[in-house]
Amino acid sequence: MVQYTGKFPIPRPDVNEDTIEYWQLLQETKQLHVQKCKNCGTYSHPPRPICHHCRQYQLEWVPMSGKGTVYSYVIYHRSVHPGFEVPYEVVLVELEEGVRIISNMVDCEPDEVYIGMPVEVVVDQVFEDIALPKFKRREQ
Ligand SMILES: [Zn+2]
Repeated sequence: MVQYTGKFPIPRPDVNEDTIEYWQLLQETKQLHVQKCKNCGTYSHPPRPICHHCRQYQLEWVPMSGKGTVYSYVIYHRSVHPGFEVPYEVVLVELEEGVRIISNMVDCEPDEVYIGMPVEVVVDQVFEDIALPKFKRREQ
């Protein structure tokens, strides 16, 4: 799990016109939402203005189950930011809907993570105005 050193400000996500609804929905509903194309049904993540499959602009926000499995992961032994304590893991989670999201675990050490590990989303209120989607272990 990522732990913060407290010596430096925690880096904030990039909130821009393409991502602001993603962050607002997570903050307000405490549920992970992903864009889905109204034309072809393809999910898009990270947020973008256009469907990467059919190039239409008709994207809507839909809630995710929050359940998935670890598709891949890496363990950082040198931090990319002085606000993070090492070691920590970065996981690539494949949600039940097929969407993959990069995140961190909240309840295990880096060497406990494995590919195929069942996980579910946790909304971590890291900042007063922005929560981050992270993951915890779940029973199969
Ligand atoms: Zn589409």
